[in-house]
Amino acid sequence: MLYDIHEECGVFGIFGHPEAANLTYLGLYALQHRGQEGAGICSSDGRQLYLEKSMGLVADVFNEKRLRRLPGYIAIGHNRYSTAGSSVLKNVQPILANFALGSLAIAHNGNLVTATELRSQLEAEGAIFQSSSDSEVIVHLIAHSKGSDIYERIAHAITQISGSFSLLILREKEMIAARDPFGVRPLSLGMKDGAYVIASETCAFDLIGATYIRDIEPGEILIINEHGLESLKIFHNQRKAFCVFEFIYFARPDSNIFGGINVNEMRKEFGRQLARESKIEADLVIPVPDSGVPAAIGFSEESKIPFDFGLIRNHYVGRTFIEPKHSIRHFGVKIKLNPVRKLLEGKRLIVIDDSIVRGTTSKKIVKMLREGGGAKEIHLKISSPPTIGPCFYGIDTPTRRELIASTHLLDEIKKYVTADTLSYLSLEGLKKIVPESKNYCTACFDCNYPINFPGEHLKQMEFLFR
Ligand code: AMP
Repeated sequence: MLYDIHEECGVFGIFGHPEAANLTYLGLYALQHRGQEGAGICSSDGRQLYLEKSMGLVADVFNEKRLRRLPGYIAIGHNRYSTAGSSVLKNVQPILANFALGSLAIAHNGNLVTATELRSQLEAEGAIFQSSSDSEVIVHLIAHSKGSDIYERIAHAITQISGSFSLLILREKEMIAARDPFGVRPLSLGMKDGAYVIASETCAFDLIGATYIRDIEPGEILIINEHGLESLKIFHNQRKAFCVFEFIYFARPDSNIFGGINVNEMRKEFGRQLARESKIEADLVIPVPDSGVPAAIGFSEESKIPFDFGLIRNHYVGRTFIEPKHSIRHFGVKIKLNPVRKLLEGKRLIVIDDSIVRGTTSKKIVKMLREGGGAKEIHLKISSPPTIGPCFYGIDTPTRRELIASTHLLDEIKKYVTADTLSYLSLEGLKKIVPESKNYCTACFDCNYPINFPGEHLKQMEFLFR
């Protein structure tokens, strides 16, 4: 289901289309699930850059008038949820800057683990930051670089940062995409009416009728301009670390990510594997919508226990976790979900959700199913392994102390959420399902962090030793 941990962001860009801004608007619409705090588009007509951005959902930020103020044949767009920096307009992207080599706008999905250090260094050298967003560090690094042309400067900037980044950069006459050497966040290249399109997820291509070409490679810088495509590889032979949580929760099921793997299929397979690992007699499998749906279908198919929608979601309520205010969060589950009593009464239920973070959502759902739904037994099954590690690469999960699976044993979590039984997908099971799983970051499940992070993040790793 959904909670208040910060999600990451969505980026979209198009080069060489007369409707560049309008298509970017549509692309951002399809990527809305990746960030709901703010949205922006920057376009270029070959002479200058135009920027429109505000706090809020894509549909609220843009209207016809605003889109008309974004002329040109190139555009990049961004959906933001703050993974770093506070929730204010100046942190909404794209970030636009003017410097010696002209104007440049940047849209970033990911999180730079060394942003604080780099920022202090840059400030000591005289840089003046407009925002608290870590992405602005990249802009300053480009501006401060001694590289002879923009490509050298970008390459130089990128080699200085550490963490996750799927980036789009817009200049007057070109668009440049870059992905961190580990490839933590997805980024795909497509084509629409002869124009190149880049998006965090392929669901954005589907909406605008673009065809998928390939992923931007980990460590690749891809320059798109009137000469076509030029690919620079500045990192070599580093291990990959695709974020496995994209499969579990973030990405849309209709997207194909990390080399064209369909997210829905992965989730169904996680459900099937979970069914093989934790057999139990029950009358009905129900998902916690929407995140638990594909895994619940897979579980039902594998276990031959019927599937149905026992919890109905009100789709007109914003996702709880996007509400930064505490007061709203507490209403969250009840506002959004309601049990179908006629279906559930007296039944032994298998309830599937994708993950447990703090455990509060599951607790409320179990209570709701027992009291409102009249369920006889509730067997909670989670289609991912226990979340024990905070993420430093773009998913701003709570500190380790707050992750219930980090501080409690399985039986204690079961008691806390008041389920009759509780089981998680095993890490081995997850790795069996994900193709070439060695290429993935599973730090949230095993605290095996592929990208080093400086000491300032260690406080997030502290937890209560038992
Ligand atoms: P919690 O109540 O803290 O245990 O939250 C668990 C719920 O949050 C699950 O239903 C997940 O679907 C959902 N969830 C997991 N990760 C995230 C995330 N990064 N952002 C928003 N919701 C999430």
